[in-house]
Amino acid sequence: MPASISTPAGAALQVLPVPAFNDNYLWLVHDGSHAAVVDPGDAEPILAALRDRGLTLTAILLTHHHRDHIGGVPALLQRFDVPVFGPRNDGIAAVTQPLGEGDRIAVPGIGLDLAVLDVPGHTHGHIAYYAGGADGAPGMGPHWLFCGDTLFAGGCGRLFEGTPAQMAASLDKLAALPPETEVFCAHEYTLSNLRFALEIEPGNEALRARMEAETKKRQHGVPTVPSTIAVERATNPFLRYRDERIAQRLAAAGKVAANAAPLAVFAALREWKNHF
Ligand SMILES: [Zn+2]
Repeated sequence: MPASISTPAGAALQVLPVPAFNDNYLWLVHDGSHAAVVDPGDAEPILAALRDRGLTLTAILLTHHHRDHIGGVPALLQRFDVPVFGPRNDGIAAVTQPLGEGDRIAVPGIGLDLAVLDVPGHTHGHIAYYAGGADGAPGMGPHWLFCGDTLFAGGCGRLFEGTPAQMAASLDKLAALPPETEVFCAHEYTLSNLRFALEIEPGNEALRARMEAETKKRQHGVPTVPSTIAVERATNPFLRYRDERIAQRLAAAGKVAANAAPLAVFAALREWKNHF
């Protein structure tokens, strides 16, 4: 289970996964009485979770415009008069608090401070939210990242609107966060991603161990999310595309020329995964 963060006011915050659709996770950040929701693609499971735990919704946070991330917003707004934080440049009409790189917000009701990162690639305006510990300083307690469909456990989002260069830069930015940062991505795609990762790095011992551990979790119906930045850096090919052995693997498979530049390797990885 993810660690909790103590707010300046002393309340302990927790993150609750709310499964929706086939493989989405909607995230509820709560202090036992108030809650913010990240990417509510569907209102029903959120309303049920709020009801079950006696929580009042105080904010909605959105990462990008896809329907499985925003579809529940109108129904939630009918029940709760709350601000809707979201990307400035992703065409979401419901956003009342437009955000971009460098913005910091204090989430109403739960006292959580978040930094906003621009992470284009999956969509043009995709943003991520980063909680840097109790006082926002590195090294102070747990770190949380809500990254939507940009970084996944073992993989990354598809390039629907952005370029490989944009996505690679976005992932590099996330990879530079503290290694203990917990990664709350929006889908349970982990085993499929790790099967591809093993195709790319069959000799990666950390990756093989992770596949075994995550497979057991899924056999018991346990989410594989959150991951951590440290685990992703050790096992996720989309954060490891500069590794010479990955370039050689792709060249051997005829996906890139020998001695291809890292960005060409990244683009070839993403393209291969699209058809894997
Ligand atoms: Zn998406």
